[in-house]
Amino acid sequence: MTTGKINVSVENIFPLIKKFLYSDHEIFLRELISNATDATLKLKHLTNIGEAKVDYGNPKIEVKIDKENKKIHIIDQGIGMTADEVEKYINQVAFSGAEEFLDKYKDSAKDAGIIGHFGLGFYSAFMVAEKVEILTKSYKDEPAVRWVCDGSPEFSLEETTEKTDRGTEIILHIAEDSTEFLEEAKIRELLLKYNKFMPVPIKFGTKTETLPLPEDAAEDAKPETQEVDNIINNPEPAWTKAPSELKDEDYLNFYRELYPMQFEDPLFHIHLNVDYPFNLTGILFFPKLANNLNIEKDKIQLYQNQVFVTDEVKGIVPDFLMLLRGVIDSPDIPLNVSRSYLQADGAVKKISSYITKKVADKMASLINENREDYEKKWNDIKIVIEYGMISEEKFYEKSDKFALYPNVDGKYFLWNELQDKIKANQTDKNGNLVILYATNEHDQHSYIKAAQDKGYEVLLLDSPIVPHLIQKLESSKEKIQFARVDADHINNLIKKDEPVISKLNETEKETLKKSIEEGISDSKFTVQLEDLESSDAPFVITQPEFMRRMKDM
Ligand code: ADP
Ligand code: MG
Repeated sequence: MTTGKINVSVENIFPLIKKFLYSDHEIFLRELISNATDATLKLKHLTNIGEAKVDYGNPKIEVKIDKENKKIHIIDQGIGMTADEVEKYINQVAFSGAEEFLDKYKDSAKDAGIIGHFGLGFYSAFMVAEKVEILTKSYKDEPAVRWVCDGSPEFSLEETTEKTDRGTEIILHIAEDSTEFLEEAKIRELLLKYNKFMPVPIKFGTKTETLPLPEDAAEDAKPETQEVDNIINNPEPAWTKAPSELKDEDYLNFYRELYPMQFEDPLFHIHLNVDYPFNLTGILFFPKLANNLNIEKDKIQLYQNQVFVTDEVKGIVPDFLMLLRGVIDSPDIPLNVSRSYLQADGAVKKISSYITKKVADKMASLINENREDYEKKWNDIKIVIEYGMISEEKFYEKSDKFALYPNVDGKYFLWNELQDKIKANQTDKNGNLVILYATNEHDQHSYIKAAQDKGYEVLLLDSPIVPHLIQKLESSKEKIQFARVDADHINNLIKKDEPVISKLNETEKETLKKSIEEGISDSKFTVQLEDLESSDAPFVITQPEFMRRMKDM
């Protein structure tokens, strides 16, 4: 027997990284800005704990396109790297300086918001660049260095005087097949997609700002303008703040910031905030949905430490929550991996069941706080609740506290209230409670009326998933049965002191019809017998249309 070490040659790995590291090449920008952010947050942490004795200042990250020379620059003012650190962190593929940092500073750094994880992000640069340069100067008093690599495993590393200020500049020499990333519009789109809420300000170009006119300005004075940094992100989005710091207005503004194209305000929000057994923050919004199950393009967005990961959340959050909008942010959501991995990830599963529970609790507290308001919103939220009830057992178990069952007259019952209301009146011979319901107030009007005349309560359950909901309720609750108001169940209900209505047979009907017709003694009218059980009118006398017209002439 022989044992040995598998020989992984870097020559072979590089093309693989380039091709398969991420399915989306555009990810390179997110990764490089994440590294720039980490470098800045690390410096912040080190100055906070007194280990770095430098002025932290107001650092920003700058992204610049040099279209002519086919280059993109990403410049930060973070901790930078010494020559040794470049050797260690950059030249070793799959060694994560971010993880090392978190290990070293443990508890003190756990809330620093460090993004990096696997030590692969940097190499995503080679998905779009044929050559990558790093110019970097550490906050430690050491010379700046330049590292250059053309995508082969050969690199060069040398001291340089070209960089004098602290931080790192990454220069991407964009490859022929990736020149789309030299377009300003493309980069702006990517920045807004992945980096819109990252914690360090990101500058992309400048913009002209109009200065306010001084009080004593002449009538025809032209306002002065100045060029200012165009900062594309909001470093402190609402979900990173404590709920106590935020007013309803702030939540609304955040919603509009998140979905600039959504013009209808949400019904309410849920602020998620947990740090045990995992870290998670976020804000979920209930949009107005009524009976509309179409999920529009604005969806829940997943973030990891304020970096956008995905809005393809199927399999990650429970289906019924996909009808909601908002943001979920957790450092435990892995950044670098595919969706199928995400779906199978244990942390992600826990997150999903936590959110389900949190939404259920929020519903229960909303209805307790203001029942009237909750009832008003019911029509718009019921589809989410009912969908949740049929698809998530944990949600269903809590639903008696907040699921409403409206009757046809617009009165709302909780499950227990409904039972109390009907138990005296609506049982069948087996002792089951029979819950009568209509699915369409208009079409089933006469049946509804008939049932109400007998003192029965008729629910209006009109959402498209009602059949499933009923099945769920019938299979889990004891001794209940649903009956559509126009089905014949209504005849089987037992009610004390109920007058017995017997049915007429065909001959009896004929006789009755004849005697009514004789009573009217006018051939302009016809008599029609109605089904006595289901209608409040035992017979109808009609005048044919042409007769009516003749009279009018
Ligand atoms: P990760 O971010 O998962 O640790 P990366 O491959 O993205 O892995 O980066 C590897 C390491 O290189 C980082 O952990 C960090 O130590 C170093 N690094 C990368 N970019 C920068 C930068 N802009 N400033 C300082 N250090 C950096
Ligand atoms: Mg990284």
